[in-house]
Amino acid sequence: MYAFTYERPSATADAAKLVKTGGQALAGGQTLLASMKQRLMQPEQLVDLGKIAELKGIKKDGNNIVIGAMVRHQDVENNADVKKHIPALAALAAGIGDKQVRAMGTMGGSVANNDPAACYPSAVMALGATIHTNQRTIAADKFFQGMYATALEAGELITAISFPIPKRAAYAKFKQPASRFALVGVFVADTGNGVHVAVTGAGNGVFRHAGLEAALSKSFTPQAAEGVSIDASNLNGDLHASAAYRAHLIKVQTQRAVQQAIG
Ligand SMILES: Cc1cc2nc3c(=O)[nH]c(=O)nc-3n(C[C@H](O)[C@H](O)[C@H](O)COP(=O)(O)OP(=O)(O)OC[C@H]3O[C@@H](n4cnc5c(N)ncnc54)[C@H](O)[C@@H]3O)c2cc1C
Repeated sequence: MYAFTYERPSATADAAKLVKTGGQALAGGQTLLASMKQRLMQPEQLVDLGKIAELKGIKKDGNNIVIGAMVRHQDVENNADVKKHIPALAALAAGIGDKQVRAMGTMGGSVANNDPAACYPSAVMALGATIHTNQRTIAADKFFQGMYATALEAGELITAISFPIPKRAAYAKFKQPASRFALVGVFVADTGNGVHVAVTGAGNGVFRHAGLEAALSKSFTPQAAEGVSIDASNLNGDLHASAAYRAHLIKVQTQRAVQQAIG
């Protein structure tokens, strides 16, 4: 490690002031600390969000489940309201990394980081969630802007995310066996306002698939996805999987997710 200062404010406003003047927000540290160890990032000041009570907690608010930015993955996995109203989100959290990662990693950190193979962005997008920050609210479709890029401005902090409760939903992840991130993950949500299909792991960032959404809106069955053509030309190919294989997985994981959602 190298020298940096460490702050642990108790209020979001104080944290935001520090971040605005160059501090780096620290949530679960599962990405940030590893990046610092590898010298991919060298912040001069860490602003630990762990003491800020208003960033914690999960509540049901009308037809939404609202999850604070500093809620750990294991708390999403075990929360009674999440399990009852959006079991797909609890199951997604239960499948992230390993026990240690789930004990430390946070909802806000994952969504702000927007790793192209992370799980939560697909749930945020498919469920049509709203990202609350210390400055404004941002719709999921406007928030994710490609690899590690989001609509967050310098100094802007995620405070919570509101997930509308769907009629039914499921997440099917084909794991990269070493990292446990998604080689391809598909979150399918029958929102009551159309079917949304969000794909992670396959491209430069999470994206919705219009062809699958149209087919599943007509018939919410695994068979309906069968005839949809998945274009591989914009997908990632690397040593783990070719673009063509990822395209194949998008269809298979969609069918698995739909099967899970209909039970
Ligand atoms: C071994 C391993 C396996 C993993 N497997 C998976 C997996 O299967 N699926 C998956 O989805 N993820 C996986 N992850 C990622 C992990 O779950 C965390 O979600 C991720 O590391 C970021 O969350 P964090 O709370 O640790 O954030 P940090 O590392 O603390 O922060 C990440 C970035 O977000 C910024 N940030 C943090 N909080 C906020 C906020 N409230 N507002 C604005 N910016 C903020 C930080 O400044 C930093 O730039 C894995 C990680 C590891 C180490």
